[in-house]
Amino acid sequence: MGFLLMSRPHSPTITRFAPSPTGYLHLGHAYAALRAWEEAQAGRCLLRIEDIDRNRCRPQFTTALLEDIAWLGQGLESWYQPLFIRYQSRHMDAYQQALDRLKAMGVLYPCFCTRKRIRAEIKAAASAPHGPDGPLYPGLCKRLTLKESRARIAAGESHAWRLDHAKAITRVGCLFWQERGEPAQQAQPTLYGDVVLARKDIPASYHLCCVVDDHFQKISLVTRGHDLKPATHLHRLLQGLLGFDPPSYHHHRLITDDEGRRLTKRDQAVSLRFLRACGVTPATIRSRVKAWGSKD
Ligand code: GLU
Repeated sequence: MGFLLMSRPHSPTITRFAPSPTGYLHLGHAYAALRAWEEAQAGRCLLRIEDIDRNRCRPQFTTALLEDIAWLGQGLESWYQPLFIRYQSRHMDAYQQALDRLKAMGVLYPCFCTRKRIRAEIKAAASAPHGPDGPLYPGLCKRLTLKESRARIAAGESHAWRLDHAKAITRVGCLFWQERGEPAQQAQPTLYGDVVLARKDIPASYHLCCVVDDHFQKISLVTRGHDLKPATHLHRLLQGLLGFDPPSYHHHRLITDDEGRRLTKRDQAVSLRFLRACGVTPATIRSRVKAWGSKD
């Protein structure tokens, strides 16, 4: 309970690069991968394929990203040599166990709502608080009695599992994390409200899998884009509940195009495949990325 900012005994950094195979890697990914590799020069950089979403992830993108990473790392064997790969889709049992532990603590509740029902409820409400991923869940299924929820589950109604964030916060108290170059950050998990931790279609979620994997892969430094910094408020809460030591974090800048827009997987012109086909070398990409890094 209470203030918990663990410092680890000095040991080599273990970081990770965790792409989702929903498209081809682009220059922004090259930047993230190289930042992670750089951090791990005296340690390890692990590769994690975040592929739990079978509708959006494609095996051909996994194959492509492995090729792209190997190509990008040419001449830098010492950086990617210690890399081994964790495919999230092969670890559903680990996520289920974490979910069961949270259920046993009484900090989850089943949610039977459709998106349509949630949208209608939010529209009808006088105010609709927003979080980093959009409007917060208005708590419809939180009002169900245990008997009602159990009956609906027993009848086979499909359901997600949501975090009762108020209960969870009461359980762990105030939590902090260490962000590179900044003072200790206090976690504010209320930002996400009662977020879904296990979806109706997949019995897990990005947030749950990320926290479980960072723990199992013994990640000591999470390097990832600044867009994911808000997620750390929630990740810290999940770590607190599950009794996991928090890693340190470095949320780096995001690479943008000349107009200042974030790069997307839809934009083929910045994909590593396309650049490679145009004759661009890994060395050119690395030096371009290094130049961005100096502004971080
Ligand atoms: N899979 C996420 C992405 O491709 C990264 C998640 C993370 O680093 O925590 O943006």
